[in-house]
Amino acid sequence: MMQAPLRFCPVCATSLVEREDAEEAGRLRLACPDGHWTFWDNPLPVLAALVEYEGRILLARNAAWPEKMFALITGFMERGETPEQGVARELREETSLQADEVKLIGVYEFMRKNELIIAYHVKASGEIRLSPELVDFRLVAPEKLRPWPSGTGHAMADWMRSRGLPFEYADLPRPVVTDPAA
Ligand SMILES: [Zn+2]
Repeated sequence: MMQAPLRFCPVCATSLVEREDAEEAGRLRLACPDGHWTFWDNPLPVLAALVEYEGRILLARNAAWPEKMFALITGFMERGETPEQGVARELREETSLQADEVKLIGVYEFMRKNELIIAYHVKASGEIRLSPELVDFRLVAPEKLRPWPSGTGHAMADWMRSRGLPFEYADLPRPVVTDPAA
């Protein structure tokens, strides 16, 4: 893994310096003083799946998260795959479900982590077996979803709007399931 922030030029190992980008109103960027390399710090695309399974929406809890926090299936793209293939792969790896239909919901900013979310509605089938990364899941009736007002929560909200499902945003900025029986 690359260390963040990167401190040395990956070509010549000289310490990077902050340099003003003349073409972008003096925006500061880390760069090699000899011009080999610039750290552009562009947002990374993240795939997210709102998974529909047997008529309900699957929310999963990552092992590293607080107890009541459940969210969409997410992951990074691999070289050589389309985002649709990537989201199907992530779903398979994390839940062992098969993606039968993959349809774009939308693209969302996630500036807090310098990421760009590409969110899909995925109809899935099979038997749920979580990867070790995930410790628990909920199957929530679509009308009982409570989107959170950030990141993938906006994708959930847009999907609900497209279905004509009324909803209220949860107060919390993070995905939380308060009613496990939902
Ligand atoms: Zn260099």
